[in-house]
Amino acid sequence: MDQSPPSTPRILAIGECMIEFSPAGEAEAYRRGFAGDTFNTAWYIRQVRPQALVSYLTAIGDDAVSDRFLAFLDETGIDRRFVRQVPGGTMGLYLIALKDGERSFSYWRDMSAARLLAENSRRLDQAMAEADTIYFSGITLAILSDPARTRLFRALERARVQGRLVAFDPNLRPRLWEDAATMRDRTMQAAALSDLVLPSFEDEATHFGDADPQATIARYRAAGTLAVTVKNGPGAVHYLEGAAQGVVEIPAAAEVVDTTSAGDSFNAVYLACLGDEGMTIRDRILAAAAMARHCIGGRGALVPLKDAAVL
Ligand code: ADP
Repeated sequence: MDQSPPSTPRILAIGECMIEFSPAGEAEAYRRGFAGDTFNTAWYIRQVRPQALVSYLTAIGDDAVSDRFLAFLDETGIDRRFVRQVPGGTMGLYLIALKDGERSFSYWRDMSAARLLAENSRRLDQAMAEADTIYFSGITLAILSDPARTRLFRALERARVQGRLVAFDPNLRPRLWEDAATMRDRTMQAAALSDLVLPSFEDEATHFGDADPQATIARYRAAGTLAVTVKNGPGAVHYLEGAAQGVVEIPAAAEVVDTTSAGDSFNAVYLACLGDEGMTIRDRILAAAAMARHCIGGRGALVPLKDAAVL
């Protein structure tokens, strides 16, 4: 039986979390963390909604670092019932190199167990049945085999019929896909089966040739999406929600330290506020943008909130 009171949001994020190595100050010393787009969003939702049931669906290995990740989920308060441990597997990894203040990234993710997160349709159905909102991204899709993408799509369609809200961030990363045409095609398929799409304009302009955020909205609307909110760095956020369309100017960031995860933290607050009937879409966008400013004011993907004043 469902024990959650109706006011408790239940959000399921689906994707890959990686091991992160970032420079630790001294030469050749690194700090080990965990990060990945959908995971970052789950983490930020916990920051602003400690009462929410936030679940993460992924696959990891059964080695020591995978066990450490499970402990990290527990410490963060993210539900890990839908984390599959693949015997003999491990997690993907990335390393951040700093040269003259510029960050560059190296990835080792081909062997990541997360590629196996959508092998079992029943498991997907079970996880989705316990959520009100389901969140996934283009990176979630990119790392899967094509049959696994189809399995995930079918499960999302079933969940939607059952009344779940499906939210998708295209997060276009052509290097992770077999080819750019497949990336564009599967992205549009994913958008067509989502209630809400949360793209970033720069990516969309680069890979779909959109002239402006309105063109991004028009393209997703034509695919059948009823709600689209387009992020655009420091620029205004453009939205479509049913019959309503609008533009929300956002305050400038006082200081840009590191933009990693800005969009992920924006999405977190946006999703966390979806059930708040007292909030207009404008309020929701401004709250999401406030979280993104907090995120870019600190180093790394996961910047803890000192208090929940951002909302
Ligand atoms: P992503 O991180 O996915 O590339 P964007 O760069 O579009 O996404 O940024 C996501 C959100 O982060 C924006 O909608 C905005 O709210 C916030 N943001 C990013 N850069 C700035 C900035 N320089 N000043 C204020 N807000 C910013």
